[in-house]
Amino acid sequence: PYERIQKIREQNIAPSLRTYYKKPLLLHQGHMQWLFDHEGRRYLDLFAGIVTVSVGHCHPKVTMATQKQLARLWHTTNIYMYPAIHEYAEKLTSLFPDPLKVVYFTNSGSEANDLAMFMARLHTRNFDIICLRGGYHGGSPYTLGLTSLTPYKHGVANGFGCTTTMLPDVFRGPWGGSHCRDSPVQTVRKCSCTEGECHAKDQYIEQFKDTLNTSVPKTVAGFIAEPIQGVNGAVQYPRNFLKEAYQLIRERGGLCISDEVQTGFGRTGSHFWGFQTHGVVPDIVTLAKGIGNGFPMAAVVTTKEIASSLAQNLHFNTFGGNPLACVVGAAVLDAIEEDGLQKNSEDVGTYMLLELAKLRDPFEIVGDVRGKGLMIGVEMVTDKDSRRPLPAEEINQIWEDCKDMGVLIGRGGLYSQTFRIKPPMCITKRDVDFAVEVLHTALQRHVA
Ligand code: PMP
Repeated sequence: PYERIQKIREQNIAPSLRTYYKKPLLLHQGHMQWLFDHEGRRYLDLFAGIVTVSVGHCHPKVTMATQKQLARLWHTTNIYMYPAIHEYAEKLTSLFPDPLKVVYFTNSGSEANDLAMFMARLHTRNFDIICLRGGYHGGSPYTLGLTSLTPYKHGVANGFGCTTTMLPDVFRGPWGGSHCRDSPVQTVRKCSCTEGECHAKDQYIEQFKDTLNTSVPKTVAGFIAEPIQGVNGAVQYPRNFLKEAYQLIRERGGLCISDEVQTGFGRTGSHFWGFQTHGVVPDIVTLAKGIGNGFPMAAVVTTKEIASSLAQNLHFNTFGGNPLACVVGAAVLDAIEEDGLQKNSEDVGTYMLLELAKLRDPFEIVGDVRGKGLMIGVEMVTDKDSRRPLPAEEINQIWEDCKDMGVLIGRGGLYSQTFRIKPPMCITKRDVDFAVEVLHTALQRHVA
């Protein structure tokens, strides 16, 4: 069956969708933090379907709730009322601080971010959207304009206006880098700051101001940022950067959009939402991935006032927030609470960060180890001084070895040089010990 499936893949499935690994995995089933392939081999899933399986593969409570709803009602579109939709909206918004109390349901993170930009423009009557270099906000033509990660850029599409060429209103601020940040582990090249503010924050803010002053008109519609950059490899900003950036945007009449597609639902451990770790309250928040534990659903949460700007005309989404999705979403929230998964993200995430950081001393090629909770990046470098990315073939070898020993890891960063570790939040310290031992063995084989 493997060869047959692979043949279909080659002939009938879009080649732009890349599979991981030289010999792609053929999966059979999943259970919590584990995946099983067609031959029954078990893998610890440290990537959770790209940070999406939040509470665990086929989590029993979520599965049971979904099965019950499947037999009752799937879909009506929001032209009628249905209790589960309203109960979920109430439950979800109760997790946000005032005044973020109104939700729109969509189907994907890209759709959510498209809507957020649309909302910011309608509400402010301004046009320009500011984003940060290294961010990722989706694959729709609109959101692709926000990314500077080259693998997602389609050169020819520029000519047809699918990226920033079409959106001269999208500007980019500074890169993430080596600086003081809110993480249990220190940067590789330790920042010279001792406490309080980091000097890098001022440099970032200067660049941010430069972008605002030189590239955009006096007013802006919105600023979109991830609390921790996910696709870019768990890149964190200097302390207080986001807070000051929000202030600068608001001074220019813009709205602040927090893309919580990866950082939401307790993944960062200390807080339920990533923006809370920066001490800010956004005007619009976008949610996807972990919201449905793999069920295709997403949402935009905003204030009543901003929502009312959109209400002057119809805004419609056929599948958004159908009964089934809302039942799944509510069950995911229950599972996070009942299984104590936010606390587990903090405890196990911190433990994992510290264990991974121990690999830096014995291995010159292990560069930055960063992140927060269960959103971790391990950057592979030629040497710690230059921080140049380790060549792809070398990283691939280590990564393939981990897979062969039963550990699945994600990749990220501009050069795909960062191992992304973002497992289902039910992972245990025992799993971490296993994963770190496997990575240790793979690294040892590589340097031997
Ligand atoms: N925002 C962030 C931070 C993401 O990581 C992603 C997906 N990787 C998206 C938005 C887009 O989500 P989707 O693929 O569901 O459209």
